[in-house]
Amino acid sequence: MISSHLSCQMINFVANIRYKNMTTQELRNQRLADKLIKNLQRRHYDAYYCSDRESLLQQVRQLIPQGSSVSWGGSMSIRDTGITMMLKNGNYEVYDRDDVTTQEDKMRIYRKAFECNFYLASVNAMTEDGVLVNVDGNGNRVAAIMWGADHVILVVSLNKVCQDVDAAMKRARSTAAPTNMARFDFKTPCQVDGMCHDCKSPDSICNYITIQRMSHPAHRHIVLLTPEPIGY
Ligand code: SF4
Repeated sequence: MISSHLSCQMINFVANIRYKNMTTQELRNQRLADKLIKNLQRRHYDAYYCSDRESLLQQVRQLIPQGSSVSWGGSMSIRDTGITMMLKNGNYEVYDRDDVTTQEDKMRIYRKAFECNFYLASVNAMTEDGVLVNVDGNGNRVAAIMWGADHVILVVSLNKVCQDVDAAMKRARSTAAPTNMARFDFKTPCQVDGMCHDCKSPDSICNYITIQRMSHPAHRHIVLLTPEPIGY
């Protein structure tokens, strides 16, 4: 009894040092991230918390060896963080669909992504216990997340964390997809009022919806959690 009381005191002491000088928001983010990392690790993901943009870039540099081949889909999260620019300016073999103009060349890059050492993406929502939800139009992004590249790095803003799969699905369908759609000049109901109408439009970007329970093979997926409000 005494020793368990002492060990609790020790844990509190270590936690107090670690959390000292954090704002209330930072404290909540750190505690949430600590819990999410444990839940992701139970699902065989590698996971890290990057408390700001610079630490996110540094973590990506540590994870991707120089000379690696790298690709990504249309993720705004990856672009917003500066990761794509950093990789393009570094010593990496980069396959970026934004560098080509013809549909034929874009398809070549989509296919090349399956052979790369690293594929970078985000998710549209994640549950508190580590299930990942994605909505995709062409399917190239979700396909590359599920199979192909040796490793997949997923940058996930804490504002995409939802209580359970139902809430994650709602976020992906009602918030992420209509917001993402606003970038394009397509004819879908969400272009008119910003709400999802579960349309059957040929222009829909909600054709493939994936729920990812675990990382397989173990450690293939690496989740980088960030408090930065990036992506949709
Ligand atoms: S209205 Fe259609 S394209 Fe828009 S979010 Fe809903 S299903 Fe997706």
